[in-house]
Amino acid sequence: MEFMPELELHHPTSVEEAVTAFQATTDGRYLAGGSDMLVNIRRGIEQPDSLVYLNGVTEMHGIVDHGDSITIGGATVLADLAGSDFLAEHFTAVATAAGEVAGPSHREYGTLGGNLCLDTRCIYYNQSEFWRAANNYCLKYRGDICHVAPGGKKCFAAFSGDVAPALLLFDAEVELAGATGPGGRRRIPLADLYRNDGMDHLTLAKGELLVAVHLEKPAAPISSGYAKSRVRGSIDFPLAGVAIRMAVENGAGGKITDLRVGLTGVSPLPFLAKGMDKFIGRPPDEPCLEDLRDRIRTQAKAMKTTMTPPHYRRRVAGGLAQKLAESI
Ligand code: SF4
Repeated sequence: MEFMPELELHHPTSVEEAVTAFQATTDGRYLAGGSDMLVNIRRGIEQPDSLVYLNGVTEMHGIVDHGDSITIGGATVLADLAGSDFLAEHFTAVATAAGEVAGPSHREYGTLGGNLCLDTRCIYYNQSEFWRAANNYCLKYRGDICHVAPGGKKCFAAFSGDVAPALLLFDAEVELAGATGPGGRRRIPLADLYRNDGMDHLTLAKGELLVAVHLEKPAAPISSGYAKSRVRGSIDFPLAGVAIRMAVENGAGGKITDLRVGLTGVSPLPFLAKGMDKFIGRPPDEPCLEDLRDRIRTQAKAMKTTMTPPHYRRRVAGGLAQKLAESI
């Protein structure tokens, strides 16, 4: 890793100041916890001239309960989400996923916004400048071939944020600022924040800032959970991460009345699995959950972007879905 380069650092105290500061830069980046951004700068993957540090933007901190909905500030640290009794009760998968990000110290400064806007990852990309130069770089940055799929022109680097698939279960929306000037805001479904392109997976306009996440409370309590597979159990990105919400009529032995499955780590974007309506009305017995496992496995399109083989990540995604559905 290289030393940090010379940078201009801005300390805004409001969203409008942050957007204004960004717009005055030549090639700026927003900085929240920095757990991924600072590593990427020291590897030469990101080469900004300025950083707009969001810690002083008070509006972007905290979890606010509005009664039938909640707002979570984009600069709220993951440890606060993981430790929230309120989230654990109403949005269990979200609190669990936040508690599964990296290690304890990362969660103390890593933020919700940072986790949602995490860059996609690949073994041929998340390397030192020396390593990448020795391998003629790759399509995602400075090169002209993809080492994962050399014949194509698509990047398969995987989105590896833990919290997004859990938020997708609850139709989360994100509030964005800056696309139309410092005062302009818009709100979009979280799913629309992403596109299936490892080189450019966020739909954010240049300089647009993720201010907050909004969640509607489910009409009735609903069980949910999150689990991931990783190389190092105490600190790592997901090889595959699975979030589930499921409701069963009349408790165990009844019929499934609600089922959603969110996936991460197995494609350039987090997404909800398709075809889950097939399971509505079935009892969550062994054949049903084996069917679920197989459906999730076929939709997990992991490529050779980690040292762990893709077929393992696809299989483990299905297995995690099955286990979670058995346990919640
Ligand atoms: Fe580069 Fe291909 Fe990996 Fe994308 S998937 S980061 S283009 S090697």
